[in-house]
Amino acid sequence: MIAIVLFGKPGAGKGTQAEFLKEKYNLTHISTGDVFRFNIKNETELGKKAQEFINKGELVPDAITIDMLKNEVANNMDKAGFLFDGFPRTIAQAEALDAFLQSINLEVTATVGLEANDDILVARILERGKTSGRADDQDETKIRTRYEEYNEKTAPLIEYYTNKNKYHAVNGIGSIQEITERLSTVIDRF
Ligand code: AMP
Repeated sequence: MIAIVLFGKPGAGKGTQAEFLKEKYNLTHISTGDVFRFNIKNETELGKKAQEFINKGELVPDAITIDMLKNEVANNMDKAGFLFDGFPRTIAQAEALDAFLQSINLEVTATVGLEANDDILVARILERGKTSGRADDQDETKIRTRYEEYNEKTAPLIEYYTNKNKYHAVNGIGSIQEITERLSTVIDRF
C-alpha cells in the first residue's frame, strides 16, 4: 500500500485534486477537514470538541486529530493505499503518523505540496466561501488566522519531509487537469 500526503495552504486545491487522484490510484481519501465537518453536522462528541477551533480558523488540538486519523485509517484498509489531505498539519502529527504507519507496516511514500502565491489563494477562498457554506471561508480574519496557523505550524513540515527525501513541490497554478498531471508524474514514480 502507498500513503501519499497532499500539502498546500488553504485554497491550494488539495480537495479538488484529491477527488481525481483517489479514483486514478484507487486510494482512500482522508480529508481531516471533511471528517470534522461531517462530525459537526451530525453533532457528535468529536464534532462538539472540534467546532470551536474550526470556527475560529485555528487548528484542532493534536490529540483529538491524531486519534480521529488513526480510526479513519484502521477502518479503511481495503484500497491500494491512502491519500491524506489536510493531515499532518503539525510536526507532532507527522511524528504520530510515522509511528502509526510503522505499526501497521506502512510508511509515508511521498508528500506533494501544491504551491501558489498567497494573494491568489485568498481570492480563491473568498470565492469558494460564496458557495461552500463554510464560515471559515467567508471571513477574512478567520482566513488570515488559518494562514498564520499554516505558516507557524504546518510550513515546518516541508523541511521535515525534505530531510527524509519525501517532499515534492508541484506548481499549483494552472488548469485542474494540468495540475492533476503534475501530481501524477510524482506519484507514478512510486
Ligand atoms: P480544511 O478543510 O483542511 O481546510 O480544514 C478545515 C479546518 O479543520 C482547519 O482550519 C482546522 O481547524 C481543522 N483541521 C483540519 N485538519 C486538521 C489537522 N490535521 N489538524 C488540526 N486541525 C485540522
